Amino acid sequence: MRADHETDVAVIGAGQAGLSAAWFLRRAGLAGGSGFVVLDHAKGPGGAWQYRWPSLRLGRVHGIHDLPGLPLGAADPGRPAAEVVAEYFDRYERTFDLPVRRPVDVLAVRRTEDGRFLVESPSESWAVRGIVNATGTWDRPFLPYYPGRETFTGRQPHTADYRGAGEFRGQHVVVVGGGTSAVQLLLEIAEVAAGTTWVTRRPPVFRDGEFTPEYGRAVVAEVDRRVRAGLPPRSVVGATGLLNTPEVARARAAGILDRKPMFTRITPDGVEWADGSRQRADAILWATGFRAALDHLAPLRLREPGGGIRLDGTRVVAEPRLHLVGYGPSASTIGANRAGRAAVRELLATLGG
Ligand code: FAD
Repeated sequence: MRADHETDVAVIGAGQAGLSAAWFLRRAGLAGGSGFVVLDHAKGPGGAWQYRWPSLRLGRVHGIHDLPGLPLGAADPGRPAAEVVAEYFDRYERTFDLPVRRPVDVLAVRRTEDGRFLVESPSESWAVRGIVNATGTWDRPFLPYYPGRETFTGRQPHTADYRGAGEFRGQHVVVVGGGTSAVQLLLEIAEVAAGTTWVTRRPPVFRDGEFTPEYGRAVVAEVDRRVRAGLPPRSVVGATGLLNTPEVARARAAGILDRKPMFTRITPDGVEWADGSRQRADAILWATGFRAALDHLAPLRLREPGGGIRLDGTRVVAEPRLHLVGYGPSASTIGANRAGRAAVRELLATLGG
């Protein structure tokens, strides 16, 4: 198989994890072009942050860790996180002259007969010796199935589709999901909707004050244990819990966060619980998270019987020239940074460079 380009390392994805890996590749002395390339299918810099809804202001996110070598610096907490991060990543790519190619949609990664990988997009291909995969989760919104879902006559957007509360004005909205995004969207929508209903699988736990570093480490360790065992990872950001901010406290007092258990069935005009009670709805908003966007790696057949990809650190146990960063325990901005460094160090040692 002839490739259009040859390079030592391909980084797939130019979000926090991919840019961190690119920076460490640059620092290790690899040149853009023959040394490494970063392939990303987004329209511009910013990773998945560029798609986050405009009302997600910088001051309301958990925290965006600086990329290595260039701090984000002072930024107005009232600005949309999507804009601030896109500008920051753009500045970052240009400052370090990172060889980011976009839009390049990687559809498949295959092994070649000469022991390399072929990275394929619809129009081009790259033969590479090693891969740092950093494709995040945004491209794979997760919607759990409930009976009757296809019969519902209203809209069923996912968090990834949300652009603002305005589209729900005057409607009754069922918000599904127990994470921070669900709560943030619920509070925004409740301001303009005729009514809201919040459903979660487990009763939510609201935490007073920031979560401690010890708690964060315990969450990361648990996700690390899962991926080492070849199980699907859980979200480390999602596990940080719901903060009892003054805004949340007010919403709880107003009854907006009175949660119901999951419904058992979706009807054409709403949802129905096991006891037969019903709620009419114009929209069901699925704030039910994401899964790792790894479809392009399917030809490598890496899935373990447990359903996940077994890792040792960031290295894929079954394919040591492939590292997954921003996956499992490193799926946070701080984890992605560290994973970029670890992956590059180990991959270059494996490749003998
Ligand atoms: P992404 O930013 O998703 O980047 C992946 C890149 O890969 C994208 O640019 C995409 O275009 C590209 N890509 C994907 N598939 C392909 C393909 N097949 N071919 C080519 N390119 C591809 N973390 C925090 O630490 N703090 C927070 O406050 C925080 N808030 C969050 C809020 C929300 C709503 C969500 C969903 C997540 C949040 N996270 C937060 C988690 C956060 O997304 C990660 O920490 C981190 O930003 C992800 O970086 P990444 O590089 O792994 O992925």
